[in-house]
Amino acid sequence: MPTARFLPAPALRLILFVCLCLTAACATRGPATESATAPAPTAAASSASANAAAPVPAELPLLLVSIDGFRTDYLDRGKTPRLAALAAGGVRADALRPSFPSLTFPNHYTLVTGLYPDHHGIVHNRIEGDGENDRFVYNDASTTADARWWGGEPIWVGAERQGLRSATMFWPGSDTAIAGVRPSYWKPFDRNVTPEQRVDTVLGWLDLPPDQRPRFLTLYFEHVDRAGHDHGPSSPEVNNALTEVDAALGRLLDGLAARGLGNAINLLVVSDHGLTAASSTRVVVVDDIVNLKRVRAVNYGVVAGFAPEPGQQAYAYKTLVKRHDHMRCWRRTQMPARFHYGSNPRIPPIVCLADPGWIIARSDWVKEHPHDSPRGEHGYDNDLPEMRALFVASGPSFRHGARVPEFDNVDVYPLLAHLLHIRPAPNDGNPKTMRGILRDGG
Ligand code: AMP
Ligand code: ZN
Ligand code: ZN
Repeated sequence: MPTARFLPAPALRLILFVCLCLTAACATRGPATESATAPAPTAAASSASANAAAPVPAELPLLLVSIDGFRTDYLDRGKTPRLAALAAGGVRADALRPSFPSLTFPNHYTLVTGLYPDHHGIVHNRIEGDGENDRFVYNDASTTADARWWGGEPIWVGAERQGLRSATMFWPGSDTAIAGVRPSYWKPFDRNVTPEQRVDTVLGWLDLPPDQRPRFLTLYFEHVDRAGHDHGPSSPEVNNALTEVDAALGRLLDGLAARGLGNAINLLVVSDHGLTAASSTRVVVVDDIVNLKRVRAVNYGVVAGFAPEPGQQAYAYKTLVKRHDHMRCWRRTQMPARFHYGSNPRIPPIVCLADPGWIIARSDWVKEHPHDSPRGEHGYDNDLPEMRALFVASGPSFRHGARVPEFDNVDVYPLLAHLLHIRPAPNDGNPKTMRGILRDGG
């Protein structure tokens, strides 16, 4: 089940208010103050220049395409011939490892900031803030429009600030003025805009006169993820969605070729996470484990968060923080280091993670979903092979016909900054990764 279908949590408590004030200060930081207030990015990444690899021709546009929920092995199903041809002529990574949690908003924002969710502040698709009604709900534009949620500096903000135009045909965060800056061209998310219309909008932006033409563009498709949730990763519906999105990519590639841009644009095609088979009968029923009057559920799903009510800390930690059947819970501050998750006070004090194929829900949700229907889920441990995402690069700046080992999605941002010739903001990425991707890169 997409997290959107879970019930909202009840009112906020003072204890979180104090913590989240701190987070808000962190989230609103601009690039100038970032190093002073942000949880520290890795030293290697923040100090490295973007010049780890060979020079990139100056004026090439860069188009970042996301196919939400495209598991890396979908590329081998024979349903995406245009994407496969792009990969064969360019660079394909064995996989792109998502950041934890392997959810849509945290990972899309990681891709464009190079920061782990713990550091950029979009720690979940649904977050509680510091007031009674202070919530971030990923598919409620009235909440995501508040720039306070979005920390770090997304690549389009860096581009605009450094004199380059950007254009976003959907991307989480792109319809919010982050640090007061929006892309020159952007669209509010609307799933009714067809894949073809999205492609034509991007092509239209590339047709603008040189002084108005964007150098950095995004293009986003949710169709594969949606079919995966509703029918599972092995379903004909996912294959149909792959075919549909590949046709849109074909339209894009043909449109670029018709404009003489076939070999004069750098393309990255990525995804945010993969998907694994789940079912509405593989549910960890949380109110069978803990008294929800003593412990408040902040969110449910594959990754669920809990906050003890006042005076209930000992009960909450004793009852929840351990391995359960099909679920593991930690205190926020004691999560495994490899998750890079837990320092941000927006993360609830207790984090529970479902085992692959399972979800965490309440008994009333279970009553409403009694049937064993095949479905798909993500959000799980980002080390799981099924959570692995897509990375394909094609264009004059990239190697031809190269296959590279998997790498972390925080490493995409330094590559974007390098390709745009802009100064990267402090980030968690490893700029050495791009050496294996760029032509003559190392
Ligand atoms: P998830 O629940 O993590 O699978 O999120 C995927 C869903 O997020 C997609 O099916 C879209 O409906 C939604 N989505 C993607 N991008 C945006 C956006 N920029 N604004 C609002 N919703 C979005
Ligand atoms: Zn997603
Ligand atoms: Zn999804």
